[in-house]
Amino acid sequence: MVHFKDPFEKLEKENASRQNLRKPLIAGNWKMNKVLTEAIEYTLDFKKRVCEVSEVEILICAPFPFLTPLSRAFEDSPVKVGAQDLFWEPSGAFTSCVSAQMLESVGCSYVIVGHSERRHIFGDTSEDVNKKAKAALGAYLTPIICVGETLDERESMRTEEVLREQVAGSLAGLTTEEMLKCVVAYEPVWAIGTGRTATSHQANETQLFVRGLLKEMFDEDVSERTRILYGGSVKPANVVELMAEPNIDGVLVGGSSLNVESFEKLVKYREAVAEQPDDFSAE
Ligand code: PEP
Repeated sequence: MVHFKDPFEKLEKENASRQNLRKPLIAGNWKMNKVLTEAIEYTLDFKKRVCEVSEVEILICAPFPFLTPLSRAFEDSPVKVGAQDLFWEPSGAFTSCVSAQMLESVGCSYVIVGHSERRHIFGDTSEDVNKKAKAALGAYLTPIICVGETLDERESMRTEEVLREQVAGSLAGLTTEEMLKCVVAYEPVWAIGTGRTATSHQANETQLFVRGLLKEMFDEDVSERTRILYGGSVKPANVVELMAEPNIDGVLVGGSSLNVESFEKLVKYREAVAEQPDDFSAE
């Protein structure tokens, strides 16, 4: 049993040095889960649990039908509400689609674009992701732009090539000012919903590479100020180690955000480690 005493100490240092530049963002992605009663029950409970939290930004990206009730319920709380996708046109004959303007009008402040499930199941290309990110920015939403390689790509040493293509394509044509309003999420496809997490070292190294790409495409200031989240089987047992890395500015969480207790632990990763080290230990 390894206790995360060292990562916690490292975390303190990291937090102090990056806090002014990049406030940690703990984002849940509910994907296509829950029905309305479950969503409301979770929301009322979660709101009470995190009402005092201010050291991290908290976000729940919920399915479209829950966005209005969640936005209303979280109005006087630190929890922000986001969507999981959008279509880039503002309105018109696009049956089934939801625009950035619609999301903004129901109280969203964030939207995920380019999630690997969108890229791999629904065929979203980096060009589509780029149009979606621009549409989000046009409606004052913060896009969380996801990139990540498959297992096959990692094993054939193509991670950097794939990330370079995805970052270049998804961020093409954004101005420096626009880029400063975006969040990037590195989500290795092989770690999503598989229980297999990138080691904190692997994630940090890859995110450092992504930060380097931002410097190449924009400038040093953008590279230093852009938050890069890690996503892929994040849970209370590994969040501290991940968040102790200098290039991990938050987490995008699927499975572990569905349970109110575990998402609370993720949001309160710093205090909980100090209070209950056993809950935050790795086997
Ligand atoms: C995700 O949906 O973005 C994700 C990372 O899922 P999980 O945490 O379940 O791996």
